Amino acid sequence: MKLAIAGMGPAGAYLGASMNGRADIEIYEMQTEKNFSSICAWGTGSGGIVELTRKVGLNFDEYILYKSKHTYIEIGKKLLKARSDGLATFDKPRLLKDITKGINVHYNTRVFPGYLESRSSIAIDATGVYRRLLPQLKQDLLLPTIQYKVRFSEMPYDDFFVSIFKNYGGYLWFFPLGGNTAFVGGGDMFNTHEPEVMNFIKKFQGEILPNSRKGKAIRLLPPSMATPHYYMNTIGVGESVGAVFPLVGEGILPSMLTADILMRTDFDRYSYSSSLKKTFKAYEDAYKFILHKSKHVYGLIDTVIFSLGLFRYIRLNSKYIGVKAGFKELYELFKPL
Ligand SMILES: Cc1cc2nc3c(=O)[nH]c(=O)nc-3n(C[C@H](O)[C@H](O)[C@H](O)COP(=O)(O)OP(=O)(O)OC[C@H]3O[C@@H](n4cnc5c(N)ncnc54)[C@H](O)[C@@H]3O)c2cc1C
Repeated sequence: MKLAIAGMGPAGAYLGASMNGRADIEIYEMQTEKNFSSICAWGTGSGGIVELTRKVGLNFDEYILYKSKHTYIEIGKKLLKARSDGLATFDKPRLLKDITKGINVHYNTRVFPGYLESRSSIAIDATGVYRRLLPQLKQDLLLPTIQYKVRFSEMPYDDFFVSIFKNYGGYLWFFPLGGNTAFVGGGDMFNTHEPEVMNFIKKFQGEILPNSRKGKAIRLLPPSMATPHYYMNTIGVGESVGAVFPLVGEGILPSMLTADILMRTDFDRYSYSSSLKKTFKAYEDAYKFILHKSKHVYGLIDTVIFSLGLFRYIRLNSKYIGVKAGFKELYELFKPL
């Protein structure tokens, strides 16, 4: 089988590495090798990623920049402290480059629809939010974001910090990167994130590192709605098919998991698509919740039901999400203000 993969993010890189030796693999990545990076806060629940990286011969611990003990979650005047479960920031670009060592990677090559499809048995759309090969989505929900790498003389918080905006349209994040630096970013459906991020940096007298201002949208549409998942001989993996937990914008591990599902279903497009919908059912519930919450149409009973569902999901998946939160904490977060 000749597998041509567009995009060297977590989904494309992990799929390429896992299939290396079992198929003829080529990866096409639009960034140059020298400047290869990833617009992302590089945070993940290491419990899940450790297993996946081990499968492709890497030791995740060697890429960790900062290991979290707890996560502060702020909403309005409330500040909750949740226990972290393996949450960490890691050197994502270095890991992606190392994972794909030994694979034929065409850097500095931007692909367009029609190019890979005719040169391979299967073309993979792993281009993330851009979804370059698959047909465009009829509807989408994209969260605009902005992020800076910031140095502080005194760190504002001693661990991960997330502040949910009062409009429930998004949040600000402060993710430590080791030493006195952190990613400070924000995303908001109502576009208040840029001033919020700047106020935070100013308040804590952070120094923005040169050329570190980056922005890119995050797809919040869940896999059940980010369809089609395939078209002719092209199949989508990762964020291109909505593998981002909408509540927290977590897409690294979910994107790798879509590649795992594709391999487990033997590249059968129909089983893959139906398995995606089943596996990421909770993402659909979270998507509906944030849509309703941002429109302020979610009342007390809905919130209790959602918090219970989310509590169950987090309990079962804490090592993937990286955070352990109890029902009381979740209800406190989401109850109507
Ligand atoms: C500001 C920000 C912060 C985030 N923070 C986190 C976080 O802390 N933790 C987390 O889990 N998730 C986070 N996410 C989400 C996460 O980064 C993505 O969901 C995840 O990386 C998606 O993986 P992917 O492989 O599907 O796509 P991507 O990581 O987006 O990779 C796609 C690749 O395709 C390449 N590409 C695009 N178009 C073409 C083309 N035409 N030809 C060739 N190559 C192309 C791109 O250069 C890129 O390398 C964040 C996202 C943003 C925007």
